[in-house]
Amino acid sequence: MKHDHRFSPHTSELSPVQGLVVAQGKRYANWGRHRVTTPAVYAEPVSYADVQRIVSDAARFPTPVSPVGSMLSVTDTIVNDGGTLVSLRKLDEILGIETDAIGRTVVRVQAGCRLKKLNTWLQALSVEIPFQAEIGEASVGSVAAGDTKESSLDGPGYFSAHVVGITYVDEVGDLRIISDHADGAAFQEFKCSFGLSGIIVECLVATRPATLCRTDVSFGAHETPQLLVAGLLEKRAQCDALLAIVFLDQLASFFEQRHKGGPGAFTPAASQPECDAFRVAKRLAIQYGFDGVEVPQPQGLIHSRADFVNEYWRPGADEKRLDFQYYEHDIAQIERVIAESHAFTIAFKEETGFAPGGWATYFVTRPEQAQKPFGIYSGGPGVSFSFDPFCSNPADPLWQEFSRRYNQLAIHRLGGRASPIQTQWLTKGDVIIPRKLARSRFTTPYFAQFLG
Ligand SMILES: Cc1cc2nc3c(=O)[nH]c(=O)nc-3n(C[C@H](O)[C@H](O)[C@H](O)COP(=O)(O)OP(=O)(O)OC[C@H]3O[C@@H](n4cnc5c(N)ncnc54)[C@H](O)[C@@H]3O)c2cc1C
Repeated sequence: MKHDHRFSPHTSELSPVQGLVVAQGKRYANWGRHRVTTPAVYAEPVSYADVQRIVSDAARFPTPVSPVGSMLSVTDTIVNDGGTLVSLRKLDEILGIETDAIGRTVVRVQAGCRLKKLNTWLQALSVEIPFQAEIGEASVGSVAAGDTKESSLDGPGYFSAHVVGITYVDEVGDLRIISDHADGAAFQEFKCSFGLSGIIVECLVATRPATLCRTDVSFGAHETPQLLVAGLLEKRAQCDALLAIVFLDQLASFFEQRHKGGPGAFTPAASQPECDAFRVAKRLAIQYGFDGVEVPQPQGLIHSRADFVNEYWRPGADEKRLDFQYYEHDIAQIERVIAESHAFTIAFKEETGFAPGGWATYFVTRPEQAQKPFGIYSGGPGVSFSFDPFCSNPADPLWQEFSRRYNQLAIHRLGGRASPIQTQWLTKGDVIIPRKLARSRFTTPYFAQFLG
């Protein structure tokens, strides 16, 4: 682990923070508007030195100091009442492509950069990162130290797997540089830390030559949960990566089958306007929580996956908007998970009249445990599927009640793993974050409850 002494907070204590500092007790909300926080101080650093000054000045920037990017997260992860909320959104430069110390082609990017910006920038150079999820607004810093899921073509379908170097500010305000090749286990652990070990300011992310994708979209209805599972596994076997949107109470599903389409960075003109019509409909469906949007079912569509990393507008208070829960299960459990979730959903619907709009289902290849030591995907080599119920109104009390009760089933009965940044209504014991990853300067009460 290298110290970087470009700025020592201990010798520059009198230097002011150059970026925006708001200490007027303003409220901040997440994308879905159902999580709000009133920090004592909100800051938008414009340099790494700003981040260092904030962390090292506990009198002006009260503990805990917690980083955020685009504040999309659905849980209380952004909540830091009375502390210091640090938004990295203005540190969003893409600094270039380079060859790292062990010969890999990597992109150097700042923590506040959004994934759409990064994917588009790489596309122009005919390279890509394997992780190309639907969410273009998420920031690099958040997904480098947090949980993500994506039915990727080749390679693990979570962003942090592709991060090979990190520059961060530690709990005393020093700038540190760590990498997989120089720091081994400590580096892999840092990537499971949700910002509790330090505030990421810059990442090196491995790239590969850009590839095209061929997509087939179809819809299927089934008689029983077992036949639904058979349908999912059959569709998965026919392609290189499957994303399914399951309507569990109706035993039906959309299937998006992705096949490797060979080298290429740009959607061929011959695929238009079909490709853009599909993209725009899919984007709107996600924005609205899949409520009331008809999505086309193209067959054999050749396209760049970077085009499908989308941007979403900040919804108004009365607008339909995506809200979801995230659970990871081993694929060996798929029949049990779907059968028991189906029975639970039908019983809940009979009792209350409510069922989630659907369930997003991603399949993710897991690496060696040494590369993902804690949390989601830490089960060692294998395949996971995420089975994520969603709704179009995060404020709906029945959706919230469904999610609370379903946590018991999915986590404690079905053995699923949950995410502190993507699974709502977690309580102590639902998730464990190793205490050694957390520094008190960065640990909010929300995260403190999960340390063990
Ligand atoms: C419409 C929509 C669609 C989505 N689709 C997907 C999807 O397809 N796949 C998927 O995986 N997720 C998806 N998500 C979830 C989203 O990707 C995650 O919640 C992501 O973490 C959001 O990034 P952010 O920058 O908004 O994080 P924020 O909410 O700003 O921050 C979340 C947490 O990340 C950590 N963090 C943030 N910045 C830093 C930093 N610089 N250093 C260290 N730690 C930091 C902190 O713990 C922080 O609390 C979706 C969300 C929405 C609202």
